[in-house]
This record gives sequence, structure tokens and C-alpha cells, in this order.
Amino acid sequence: MLPKTETGMSEKTLSRPISTHPFDDDKLREECGIFGATGVSEASSFVALGLHALQHRGQEAGGIVSYEPSEGFSSVRRFGLVRDNFTREDVMAAVPGDLAIGHVRYSTAGSKGQTQIRDVQPFFGEFSMGGAAIAHNGNITNADALRRELIDLGSIFQSGSDSECIIHLMARSLQKTIPERMKDALRRVEGAFSVVAMTRTKLIGVRDPLGVRPLVLGRIGNEGWALASETCALDIIGADFEREIDPGEMVVIENDKVTSHRPFETRKSRFCIFEHVYFSRPDSQLNGRSVYETRSAIGAELAKEAPVDADLVCPVPDSGTPAAIGFSQESGIPYAMGIIRNQYMGRTFIEPTEQIRNMGVRLKLNVNRALIKGKRVILVDDSVVRGTTSRKIKEMILDAGAAEVHFRIASPPTAWPCFYGVDTPQREKLLAATMSEEEMRHHLGVTSLKFISLDGLYRAVGEKSGRNAKEPQYCDACFSGEYPVTPSDQIEKGFMLKAAE
Ligand code: SF4
Repeated sequence: MLPKTETGMSEKTLSRPISTHPFDDDKLREECGIFGATGVSEASSFVALGLHALQHRGQEAGGIVSYEPSEGFSSVRRFGLVRDNFTREDVMAAVPGDLAIGHVRYSTAGSKGQTQIRDVQPFFGEFSMGGAAIAHNGNITNADALRRELIDLGSIFQSGSDSECIIHLMARSLQKTIPERMKDALRRVEGAFSVVAMTRTKLIGVRDPLGVRPLVLGRIGNEGWALASETCALDIIGADFEREIDPGEMVVIENDKVTSHRPFETRKSRFCIFEHVYFSRPDSQLNGRSVYETRSAIGAELAKEAPVDADLVCPVPDSGTPAAIGFSQESGIPYAMGIIRNQYMGRTFIEPTEQIRNMGVRLKLNVNRALIKGKRVILVDDSVVRGTTSRKIKEMILDAGAAEVHFRIASPPTAWPCFYGVDTPQREKLLAATMSEEEMRHHLGVTSLKFISLDGLYRAVGEKSGRNAKEPQYCDACFSGEYPVTPSDQIEKGFMLKAAE
């Protein structure tokens, strides 16, 4: 039986916001956050709170699936923010039970086409042994080939999402239980995946063999468990962080018992290094250390590698803030809030007019003129993608009377697209793909421009001897062009790997 959806809701009745980031297309965007809870009454409320804490990982749409014995599976999928949908009593009443999973997603209109409500996860499948729902964070790099194969075999796809392949692969498995079918399916899948899934009785979490995307386990009180993309989502529900799910591990939680399985060949971990730089929330923990602390260490390393004589260190808020603090502490140059972010920008101008669009970043960021005037300013940002926002910020700082503007960037030049669950512009749109550092400095019109080195970034995240060139400890493909999983669908579409250029 298919899961119940809200009465009277059809795809047409669900409204779609134009964009939650109408002025901020100059950042890489994590595409998904996932959360699951079991062993607690009204599990979907825990999931909604968890997804709210993970909203930075996806703002376009969200969904929750729950199970309650008398109701069976139920689901709600909506465009928009968690706080606008999953706080309503009628919506939450539609997903009862003590077992639930959820998903928030971000996807660009344009590059991948507009998201339809049927693309919003969790996805659900009915099997002979009962139903299962899955929510996926990451990207399947052989999804096109799998989809062709599955369609040839008779599968009927309902969405444009690569994640739906997992459900169809599970349907074709001959295994007797859903966890075994999931293992079969995920062994066919290449790329990056962290998955939370549920059956009528089990909450399941899996990470791909390289552990590219994060997934953590938390304890809710004495009887409940949670799985989440980040620890900040455990904090919001008062759950205790137990541990990270290991790369290549599957955990199955049933009747308050957690069992661990290793369905894949053992591989060396290649966690996404950009999670440390930008994607994860600064109050989350990664590898036993707070993300804030790591970002501050990145700023300190940057100050050692690229010192400059100046009067003030200012972050590009909010993502550059911890690195700017680290830069200031290491260099001894005073830290100042030279740029102020309007926290209420949000969805105010949901359909911006051309005139408002032209105001661009000024709607979101404003320069603290009294501080900046006549000063030599070091601006610290997490990354440069297209460079459009960096140029505008530099203009604002110079307009405010700064004597010099020095950009210091807390990641190496982003010169390659990500194919593992992060929305990146095509390679030719990445500033660092087409320009040298000096050309970028000239293009941005700043007094000086320096990026942290790849080795420096590795040192800052805790790898004392830097990057192991033969066996890198992280995925850093967007900086190095060395992809730990061959992006086979992309190569088929004409993407050239570094060696082939
Ligand atoms: S390519 Fe970059 S953003 Fe993508 S997983 Fe690797 S390090 Fe992370």
C-alpha cells in the first residue's frame, strides 16, 4: 500500500518559492540534509526539528515519511522552508507514529530543470516484505547508466532524481529482507551517498565506502535513536551524540538495538574537505572537533601562509567569520565587523524586480563605513566560486573609503565541479578554472589576493604533515581535480578529467 499523503493535496496545490537565495548564487551549495528518529512518540516532530537545524543544507523543499501501525506509512512533501510547513498542526498530524525520516533539498532551477514535488524525498517503495522509505544525501555518479538499465528491465521512474534508482534496485533484489535488499542496491551505486531509510520497524543509516558525505548517530533519552547529517541536528532535539557512522557502514536500529553491518569492500575514507570549510554548521562536530574550531585554525594557517600589513581583519559574513577570527588571532591585526549582514533578508523579496536585483548584495550586506574609512582592510571569505559577489563586496568596501582591500580565502581555488552532491557551476564558470591567481586579483580589482594552499588546509583540519599526494586523506576534487570516484555519467556527457585535458 502506498503511503498516505495529506488529504486533498495534489502537486498543483503545493506552491513553490521562486528562490530562497535570489541574490546569492556565488556559493557552492550542499544539496541535501537527512534526519531519522525512532523510539519516540511523535517522531515526525523530532524529524521536523532536525530538518530545521539542517536547513542550511537545502532550502528548496522538504519531506517526512512516518509509520504508525494503525495508519501504515504516511508522507508529507512540501516546497519551502521547514519552519513554514512542518510547524503546522494539520501537516504534522498527517505523519503520526514513533518512527520517521525526513529530507531537505536544494536544487537549482536551470542547470537541472525545475524540481517537481515528485522529486522531493523521502522516496517510498512497496516490496513483498513490506514498505520502505529512503532519504539520500549525495549524488550517484552512475545514475544515468543505472536508470537506462532499469528502464530497459521495466522499471517505471516517477521522479527525475538519481536517488530513485536505489528504490528500483531494491525492488529487483532477490534478498528476503529490506536491509539485505538495500545492501544489494547500494553495491551497484557509485558516488557519494549517506542514506537514512525506514521500514515498519527499523531505522537504517548507511554511508558510502569512502564516507564522502556525513552521517551521525545520536541517542534520544533512554529509548530513542536519531540519525542526522550533522550533530547540530542532534543538539536541537536534546539528543546525545553517540558517534559518526563509519565510511562503508550500515546501522540497523530496531527495538532499541543498534546493529552494525559492513556491506562494502573496505576502502580508505575520503570525506568531503569542503564540509570543514563551508557546508557544515560551525556548531557541528566533525572528526571529534567543532567545525568552528577547524575554521578558525584554517584562518590561522592562512595568516601564516599569506601575511599582509593591514589595519583590520573583517569577515565576509557569516561563513567567513570563524576563519577571520583565526586570521586576526594569528596575525595580531584587530578583528572588526566591517560588513554587517541583514539577518532578515530571507524571503523578503521572493520575486525581486529588476531594480531590486540590481542592488544585489547590498540588500544582504552593508559596510560599516565608520570602521572602514581610510583603513587597510583584510577581507576573509570561505571561497571564491564565480567571483561575482567578491567583486561587489570589494566595490562596497572601496566606496566606503577603504585605503586598501586584501582578500584572503579560506580554501584553495575552486577550479573543478563537484559531482558528489554539491551544486557547482559548470567548470568554465568557475573563476579559478580559467584564471591564474594574479588574473583573478586583477579581475576582482583588489590590492592583493591569496588562497590557503591545499597542504595548509589539510594541516588546519588536523593532518599535521599535510596532504598525502599518493593517497589523499579527503576528497578535495573541487580543488585538485582528482576525483576519488570516476564521474562516469559526466564523462559520457563530455566532461574531461584532469589527465585527459
Ligand atoms: S568535490 Fe569538493 S565539494 Fe565535492 S565532495 Fe569533494 S571536496 Fe566536497
